[in-house]
Amino acid sequence: MPALVTIVDHPLVRHKLSLMRAAETSTSKFRQLMREVSLLLGYEATRDLALEEIDLATPLETARLPVLAGKKLCLVSILRAGNGILEGMLDLVPAARVGHIGMYREPKTLAAVEYYLKLPFDLPERDVILLDPMLATGNSAVAAISRLVEARARSIKFVCLVAAPEGIDQLHRIFPDIPIVTAAIDRCLNDHGYILPGLGDAGDRLFGTK
Ligand code: URA
Repeated sequence: MPALVTIVDHPLVRHKLSLMRAAETSTSKFRQLMREVSLLLGYEATRDLALEEIDLATPLETARLPVLAGKKLCLVSILRAGNGILEGMLDLVPAARVGHIGMYREPKTLAAVEYYLKLPFDLPERDVILLDPMLATGNSAVAAISRLVEARARSIKFVCLVAAPEGIDQLHRIFPDIPIVTAAIDRCLNDHGYILPGLGDAGDRLFGTK
């Protein structure tokens, strides 16, 4: 396992992810589970946020206590399925800035095609957590990270629910220093670029479009 890949294998995450994988799980349940799993992934992905100590008055005395140093986080969702993770992450860090990168997969070549880009202007001062539930071929992740590098993001971390070995290899071939946080690494991709066993098309399942 590459050092820069963290698998969040907490029993709650594993249980909820299994329920998400089940074909019979309804759209509303899938959405709720994605929010819950994302919050738990967010807990791990924000583990290295900087703290500073300030004086705070408790009901009994004034104490020096740790708080987050600045509000310099930016969550970037790869549309559209990234928005499912975004919800849970924002539950955890409601003050984070949010960017969006719209990508679709060209069905024949599986290349990532960008159709939308909106990022906060001050990314050089922000740590970015890039969100996409499925790291499959790695093409969307690489294209999105390229945009964030162009925008000179202070740091970049990639968070997904399910990763394929092919996607991890591709991402780290182009960007060897980007940490990946995932709930699971699955077996492989099928001929259409879907992850096996996976959970199907995350966007369709999240929004009920199939
Ligand atoms: N995108 C998905 O939504 N699912 C996959 O299995 C691969 C890419």
